[in-house]
Amino acid sequence: MSETINNESQETTRSLNFVEQIVADDLKEGKNGGRLNTRFPPEPNGYLHIGHAKAICMDFGVAEKFGGTCNLRFDDTNPVKEDVEYVDSIREDIHWLGFDWGDREYYASDYFPQLYELALRLIREGKAYVDDQTSEEIAAQKGTPTRPGIESPYRNRSVEENLDLFQRMNAGEFEEGARVLRAKIDMASDNMHFRDPIMYRIIKHPHHRTGTTWKVYPMYDFAHGQSDYFEGVTHSICTLEFVPHRPLYDYFVDELADETYRPRQIEFNRLNLTYTVMSKRKLLQLVKEGLVAGWDDPRMPTISGMRRRGYTPASIRNFIDLIGYTKYEALNSISLLEHAVRDDLNRVATRGMAVINPVKVVITNYPEDKEEILEMENNPEQPDSGTHQMPFSREIYIEREDFMENPPKKFFRLAPGGEVRLKGGYIIKCTDVVKDDEGNIVEIHCTYDPETRSGLPGSMRKVKGTLHWVSAKHAVDATVRLYDRLFNVENPAAEPDRDFREMLNPDSLKVVTGVKIEPFLAQNLKPGTPYQFQRIGYFTPDLDCTDSEIVFNRTISLKDSWEKAKNK
Ligand code: ATP
Ligand code: MG
Repeated sequence: MSETINNESQETTRSLNFVEQIVADDLKEGKNGGRLNTRFPPEPNGYLHIGHAKAICMDFGVAEKFGGTCNLRFDDTNPVKEDVEYVDSIREDIHWLGFDWGDREYYASDYFPQLYELALRLIREGKAYVDDQTSEEIAAQKGTPTRPGIESPYRNRSVEENLDLFQRMNAGEFEEGARVLRAKIDMASDNMHFRDPIMYRIIKHPHHRTGTTWKVYPMYDFAHGQSDYFEGVTHSICTLEFVPHRPLYDYFVDELADETYRPRQIEFNRLNLTYTVMSKRKLLQLVKEGLVAGWDDPRMPTISGMRRRGYTPASIRNFIDLIGYTKYEALNSISLLEHAVRDDLNRVATRGMAVINPVKVVITNYPEDKEEILEMENNPEQPDSGTHQMPFSREIYIEREDFMENPPKKFFRLAPGGEVRLKGGYIIKCTDVVKDDEGNIVEIHCTYDPETRSGLPGSMRKVKGTLHWVSAKHAVDATVRLYDRLFNVENPAAEPDRDFREMLNPDSLKVVTGVKIEPFLAQNLKPGTPYQFQRIGYFTPDLDCTDSEIVFNRTISLKDSWEKAKNK
């Protein structure tokens, strides 16, 4: 698999990944009448995360690439954990990523009648039986990969008794856990999944779509391949943990398929990211226990969290392209995702100025009642993006960290007697510092050089540092939420002996109020549309913005300040 990225044209050309190669070969051979149909099969028991995005890009991507179709199938076989809230969020997230399933929205629950019929047929053919043992007893008889399992005492029940019991299971006559339906395959098989796998269990919880119609629900292994078959799916692409399930997938598909059409399972490696967790169970726990503010908390690895944080669909898709698809498990660095986010935001985000930790600067030789309007570039990466206006006046704010009373060598920001350029404006020189009784700096006094504004002769005069700033009387107050990694351990999933909650980063969220933003940034606030706060990072208006409070989420900090970029 080679890959060449041409940075100049931003075009990526690459050879096929191994899944695409398999699909291409199948199409060439004319399998399944030359049809290509994939599916993305989420269980609606939580919100989608970035790992699902990898599967979505594969399932929809390969269909797009070869002119096929991709179904959205909700794998809703466990009513206890599933909910329509999740169904809705899954739809929204897939669309946001830029994929569409048209009218091909399906539910495993749509196939309950066919699956039930198939189960009855397998019972009649002596290929399935009702087991009265508890799940613990069944597990204890399973054996190990090197030791065969033990056959259930109920394994050789008559067909009549099995039919009767299974139907009564579904009629609600027995309690949950009292009986299961198992496939009668081989308790000594090398593949543990062949040791009489459970096909159906009793669940009395109402289903979000089928209500109380069913009291028995199929297990994943008895539902997935058949659902693929009923839908006409040709390539059932999933993650590597399903490799050992594949023979069982094929076993049940064999009961339905003929030589004209059969779905095939192909596996690729999961996406695992550093400093976070991908388990829906753990993510749900974080939400339920209030350890985060919800599924769409911007620290979550969920698609909705990333959207709220300001990540773009393009950045997520580029990241997934970058890591690629293999047959080996790996842990992907979150820095790579962050790189993709910066890369895209640098391209698309409008620039503005905001001062996170303000200190006031008084320009003593600037007239008290004078105001000027400066034209600021919206985005130097996009020549057509235009400019916006930014007011300048006698009092401005700069970042407290951009001033030092006793600076070390090579401090190119503001210091007594020193000069800096105000980004897009004049050069100023520090003449004095005003302190309170405790010695804290409350004001910095400067003079400005009136010749140095853009368009004037002195505009070319060079100074070492350039600072961002906002006019004090025009500034608008905002709150920013500074997000950091959710966990302070690189791979929380690799520490089974520790409670994952102990590994949460206690500093993953800092809220800063009293941030001063230029008026332009306070207008047209659109949640999900990120800005670059010059020299600071990318920030996105949050859903919680109101008329009286502006809230920005820090999407990501800048790796390089524009100062460095400018000097290169
Ligand atoms: P669980 O089955 O434990 O509830 P899951 O993460 O497997 O969780 P599903 O809803 O079954 O959730 O996943 C839907 C699809 O997304 C499956 O095809 C699965 O293989 C794929 N998927 C899930 N997690 C990842 C991941 N981390 N990387 C790539 N694909 C994933
Ligand atoms: Mg799953």
